[in-house]
Amino acid sequence: MRYLRHRTALRLCAADPTHRFHPEADTVPDDGICTVCGGALYQRDDGDHVRRLVGEHEARLEPVAQHYAQQHLLLELDASGTSAEVTSRAVIALRERSR
Ligand SMILES: [Zn+2]
Repeated sequence: MRYLRHRTALRLCAADPTHRFHPEADTVPDDGICTVCGGALYQRDDGDHVRRLVGEHEARLEPVAQHYAQQHLLLELDASGTSAEVTSRAVIALRERSR
């Protein structure tokens, strides 16, 4: 999923798409102008690409999830929120299961 966040946040230069800016790695110019060549920056519409990647990821995950579910070793939980919140939910769920 980190890859998906990276792609969706990426800003590309309209004049030269090899000039790329990512908020986590670079300073995205506030004025939306490429600092390399002065071209306009834009955010690519990756909706279809992201949906396809998520679909592929889920297709690969499903057989693994079914395998562990059949052995009663699959624990599902809400993975929304911060990593600390998800970790806390996972620890609580594992403790409840081990009782
Ligand atoms: Zn540029």
